[in-house]
Amino acid sequence: MTEKWKEKLRQIVPPKSLRVRIFFIILLVGTVPSIMMRYGIVSNYEARAVDQRSTTVQNQLMIIANHLVSNNYLTNYPSEEQAYKTSHEVIDAELEMLSNLYEGRVMIINSNLKVVTDTYDISEGKTIISEEVIKCFRGTNTTHYDPEHGYIEMTTPITRTETVDGVTTSEICGVMLTSISSESIQSTMTIMSKNALILETIMILIVLALAFVLSAMLTRPFERITEAINEVRAGYSDECISVPDYAETVHIVDAFNQMLGQYKALDESRQEFVANVSHELKTPMTSIKVLADSLLTQDNVPAELYREFMEDMVSEIDRENQIITDLLALVKMDKKVQDLNIVTVNINDLTELILKRLRPIARKKDVEVVFESVRPVVAEVDEVKITLVMTNLVENAIKYNKDHGWVKVVLDADHQFFTLEVSDSGLGIPEEAMTHIYERFYRVDKSHSREIGGTGLGLAIAKSAVLMHRGSITVTSTEGEGSCFTVKIPLNYIKQ
Ligand code: ADP
Repeated sequence: MTEKWKEKLRQIVPPKSLRVRIFFIILLVGTVPSIMMRYGIVSNYEARAVDQRSTTVQNQLMIIANHLVSNNYLTNYPSEEQAYKTSHEVIDAELEMLSNLYEGRVMIINSNLKVVTDTYDISEGKTIISEEVIKCFRGTNTTHYDPEHGYIEMTTPITRTETVDGVTTSEICGVMLTSISSESIQSTMTIMSKNALILETIMILIVLALAFVLSAMLTRPFERITEAINEVRAGYSDECISVPDYAETVHIVDAFNQMLGQYKALDESRQEFVANVSHELKTPMTSIKVLADSLLTQDNVPAELYREFMEDMVSEIDRENQIITDLLALVKMDKKVQDLNIVTVNINDLTELILKRLRPIARKKDVEVVFESVRPVVAEVDEVKITLVMTNLVENAIKYNKDHGWVKVVLDADHQFFTLEVSDSGLGIPEEAMTHIYERFYRVDKSHSREIGGTGLGLAIAKSAVLMHRGSITVTSTEGEGSCFTVKIPLNYIKQ
C-alpha cells in the first residue's frame, strides 16, 4: 500500500481512536459467536444425522443377518431345495427393499471372502479383499462416512450362535458390506447452511449498525469535552464546563475546571499586579509633575523655593528608584528555583554585616539594635536572597518602630534548621492585616508607610526568598507593643 493510501486510511480509521476500538469490539462480540454457532450447529447436525442413519440401517441389517443365519443362507448356498429357494428369495427381497430405501448397495460375503449376494448384481461370485471386511470377520464393526462422494459404508457381521451340551458358541460366518447414500443429509445441510448464512448476514448487518451507533454514542461525551475545551481555548467562553455522563468524564472535566480556576486566578493576580505597579510608579511621577508645574507657573521664584522643590523632586525620584529596585528583586524571585546560587555561608557573619549596614538608619530614630547569637551557624543558602530577607525584616523592625525603641535579632539553630528571630518594640500589626502583609504592595497604613519610604514589596520579596529555600516565615504581633518575625531555613539545601 502506498504512503498516500495509508494516510487516507489513517484519516478514516484513526489507529488510536476510542470510537474505532469500541466499534470493532462490538462487531467482534456480536459476530464471532454467531459464526461459531453456525459452524457448530451445521457440523453437529451432520455428525448426528450420519450416526442416526447408520444405527437405523445397522439395526435393520442385524435383523436380516439373523434371517440369514436362521435360514442357513450361507451354509447351504447354493442349494436347489425349494425351501432354501423360497427363503433366499424372501431375503433377497428384504435386501432389495433396504437398498432401495436407502439408495444403497448390500453385499453378503461368506467366510471365503466370496460375494454371495450383491443387490447391484455386479460382484456376485467375486472374491473381495477389503480391510473393513477382514476387520469385521475379526469382530470389529466399521462405519465409514465419505462426505466427498456422499455415502456411508458399514460392515455387519453375520453371527451364528450354537448351544452344544449347554455351551454356547458364536461364529462369524459372513459379513454384510453395505454402502448407503448420504445425499439427503448433505442436501439438508446445504439448506440449513443457506438459511443460517442468511440469518448470519442479517445479524452481522444489525451488529454493524449497532456498533456504529453505540460507538458514536459512547464516545460522544469525550467529543463534548473537546468541544467545550476548544470553546474556552478560542476565548468564546471562560465558564466551567460540565459533562456528567461518566465518572471518567467528570474526573477529566473537574481537573480541567481546576486548571481553568488556577489560570483565572493567575490572570486576575497578574492584572491586579500590573494595576498596582502602574499606580505605584505613577504616584512619584505625579508629585514630580506637580512640583515642576508649580515652579513653572510662578514668576520670580526665590532660589530657596527652587532648592526646596528640587529636593522634593529628588526624593520622589529616589522613591521611584526604590520601587523599581524592589520590583526587579521580586521578578528575580519569581524565576525558577534552579536559579538559586547556593553557597556555604557563615550566617553569624552575614547577620553582623547586615546589621552594621542598617545601624545608621536605626541611629536616626534612636532605635537600639541588639544581636544575640546562640551558636555559630553555617548554612547552604543563596547569600544574596538571604541578605534580602534579613535586610527587609530588620529594616521593617526599625522603620515601624517608636523613637527610642529597640530591635532584637536572635540567631539559633538545631541539627536541621537555623532560625532568625527579628523582634521589635514597634507599632505592631493589626489582627486583620496579618494575612495580607506578604501580598505585593500591601501596607497597613499607606500614607505612613509612604512617608517612611515603604513600597509594600519588602515582605513579598522576603517570603519568596524563604520559600525558594524550602523554609518558612511566621509572625506574631500585638498592636502597640511590637512584632516578632521568625524565619526558619534548612541548614542543608534540599534539591527539589
Ligand atoms: P513596606 O515596604 O511598606 O515596608 P513590606 O512588605 O515590608 O512593605 O511590609 C508590608 C506592611 O507590613 C508594611 O506596610 C507595614 O504596615 C507592615 N509591617 C511590616 N513589618 C512590620 C513590623 N515589623 N512592625 C509593624 N508593621 C510591619
